[in-house]
Amino acid sequence: MELNHTHDASARSWLESANAAGTDFPIQNLPFGVFRRKAPGEAFRAGVAIGDQVIDLAAIARDNAVSGAAAQAVNACTGDALNEFLAMGPPAWRALRHALFDLLKAGASGPGVNALRASLVPQAEAEYRVPTRIGDYTDFYTSIHHARNVGRVIRPDDPLTPNFQWLPIAYHGRASSVVISGTPFKRPMGQAMAPGASAPVYGPCRRLDYELEMGFYIGPGNAMGAPIPIAEAEDHIFGMCLLNDWSARDHQFWEMNPLGPFLGKNFCTTVSPWIVTLEALAPYRGPFAHPADEPQPLAYLASAANSAHGAVDVQLEVQLESNEHRTRGVAPDRLSATSFRHQYWTIAQMLAQHTVGGCNLQPGDLLGTGTISGPTPGEAGAIVELSAGGTRDVPLPGIGATRRFLEDGDTVILRGWCEKPGAARIGFGESRGEVLPAIG
Ligand code: MN
Repeated sequence: MELNHTHDASARSWLESANAAGTDFPIQNLPFGVFRRKAPGEAFRAGVAIGDQVIDLAAIARDNAVSGAAAQAVNACTGDALNEFLAMGPPAWRALRHALFDLLKAGASGPGVNALRASLVPQAEAEYRVPTRIGDYTDFYTSIHHARNVGRVIRPDDPLTPNFQWLPIAYHGRASSVVISGTPFKRPMGQAMAPGASAPVYGPCRRLDYELEMGFYIGPGNAMGAPIPIAEAEDHIFGMCLLNDWSARDHQFWEMNPLGPFLGKNFCTTVSPWIVTLEALAPYRGPFAHPADEPQPLAYLASAANSAHGAVDVQLEVQLESNEHRTRGVAPDRLSATSFRHQYWTIAQMLAQHTVGGCNLQPGDLLGTGTISGPTPGEAGAIVELSAGGTRDVPLPGIGATRRFLEDGDTVILRGWCEKPGAARIGFGESRGEVLPAIG
C-alpha cells in the first residue's frame, strides 16, 4: 500500500484537538465507528473520529457535504451498522476518507467545511455500538510466543503443536456475545477438572483471563467455493480494532480436548469502538518473514507483498484497574506491553487460510488475530502467561496487591497506537471491560 498526501505527518486540521500531541485521532487517522449522542431518542449512525469529536456521517450525507464517489460512499453510512459501506471496497473507502481529510485540513473553507463543522459531536457526549452486524466471528492463534507460553501450561513436554508453523490455526467463535468497549459481563459458570481430581466440579470460573488481541473487519466477501488468493486478501480487509477475547481457563482447558474452545470463550468478547483503516496504517507496515531455519509458508500463504510489508507495527498495552484502584483513586497498573509486528502469521495469511477451503466471508465479519504476546516475558498478552499458569504472582504496584487471575470488579483496559519518526502518531482508542460477580 502506497503512501499519499493523507499520510503527510505535517498535515494539520482547523480542529485544534486533532493537532494535540498524543491524540489518537489526528487528521491522518480518521477511523470509522457507529455512535450516537447519549440522549433519549437518538439513533445509532456511522461516525468518524477526529480529535475529541465525532463526525456524524448521516449529517454529512444529508447536507451533501461531499461529492462524487465520496457521496456514494457516505450514503452507505447513514444506518446503524457499517456493513453496506464495508461491502463497497477500497475505492469507496479511500474516496470518503480523502474527502473528509480535505474538508478537515487547515485552511479548508466552503459549504462542505461548514456542514462538517456543524455535524461534530463531542466524544464526551457519545456512546458506541459494535460497528457492524457481525455475521460470523473467527478467532485465530497466531503468536508463537503465546502458543509456547500457553502450551507449556497444557503440555509441558511439547508446548508447540506441529501444525502451528505451517498454518494459521483458528476456531469459529460466537458473534452474538461480541460487545462494545465499556460493556461489563458476568463471570461465567461451567465445569472444571482440577489436577488429580476424579470428577469435574460445576461453578463460577476460578481462572478468568483476558487476551490482548486485535480484530479486523471484512469488506467485500467471497462466494462459497471461491477462495480469496493471498495477493488480493487486503482488498477484502477494511481495518483493525482492539479485541479482548475473555477466557475462562479452567473451563477451557477441561472442555477443549479433542475439539476447540466452547464455553471457555463464548461468554464475552470485547471490541474497541473505532476501526482504523488499512490505508491509515500504511506508514506502519513492515517486512514479514519466518526465521530461515523454520518452515516457510506454503505457496498459497505467500506473496511478494506479504513478504515486503505484511507486518503491522501496532504498539499495544494492557492495564488493570481493580475496585481498589478506583476507591483509592490510583491509576490503573500496566500488566504488559508489546507490538503486533511479532505475530507469526499476517492478516493476509489469516484471510487466505480462512477461505482456501471454500468458506465464504461476508461484509462486516470479524476475525481476531489471537493473543498477541511478544518474545520477552513482559510482553505476554494474557495473565495465564504472566502468572505461569497461576503459579506466580503478578504484581499490581499501584495498590500493593497481586493477581494470578482476574477478580470481580477488575476492569481490563487495552490500548493501541502507532508511532515512529517521520509519521503521524495514530491510535486505536481503548477496549475496556469489567468483570461482574458470577451468574446466579
Ligand atoms: Mn483468543
